Amino acid sequence: MGRFTGPVCRLCRREGTKLFLKGTRCDTDKCAFERHRASPGMQGALRGKPTDFSLHLREKQKVKRYYGVLERQFRRYFDIASRSSINTGEVLMSLLERRLDNVVYRLGFGRSRSQARQLVRHGHILVNGKRVDIPSYQVRPGDVVSVKNRAKSLQAVQAALSERQSDVPDFLNLVPGDVPEGHVLRDPTLDDVGIPVQPQLIIEFCSR
Ligand code: SF4
Repeated sequence: MGRFTGPVCRLCRREGTKLFLKGTRCDTDKCAFERHRASPGMQGALRGKPTDFSLHLREKQKVKRYYGVLERQFRRYFDIASRSSINTGEVLMSLLERRLDNVVYRLGFGRSRSQARQLVRHGHILVNGKRVDIPSYQVRPGDVVSVKNRAKSLQAVQAALSERQSDVPDFLNLVPGDVPEGHVLRDPTLDDVGIPVQPQLIIEFCSR
């Protein structure tokens, strides 16, 4: 299935949690989820007790939608994580959190993950001084993520930084300035993920 192009606030209501897909609006009282929490659709408020299957499915869908990845990409991350000798859930979340578009968003260079993805795709973002235009690029500890020293790039990033509401997670360090930079300090852990996640449910769903 392709990327969702409908109203993204429906996704938050469907997953029963804020997914922060609309940038600064998500932190204001204009947030649709804060005003109306029932699932979307005619029968939204009437949905009964969720089944075991739906609990597992919703957890996977929630994470996929939060990071804006497609099913095939998500399954690829799961395959890598399940082959690892370390905790599968930790590795899965670390792979998602280390995506360049996510790091750009969490540093505050973009108002939302979709804007951050666009910044990367359009070549505004550098990793260790080299242009990287692949949103799924995996950053590593020691990498420096910065913005191309060009008026158009800096203008978009400075505007987003001035509006940022949330803190930078502990695995990153933001060095603000005329040309802001982000330093990747360590591998992200479950505690660094911006929403509550139960990776065990996802592992059980994907292992069926
Ligand atoms: Fe979700 Fe609220 Fe942001 Fe809409 S405004 S995407 S409901 S968090």
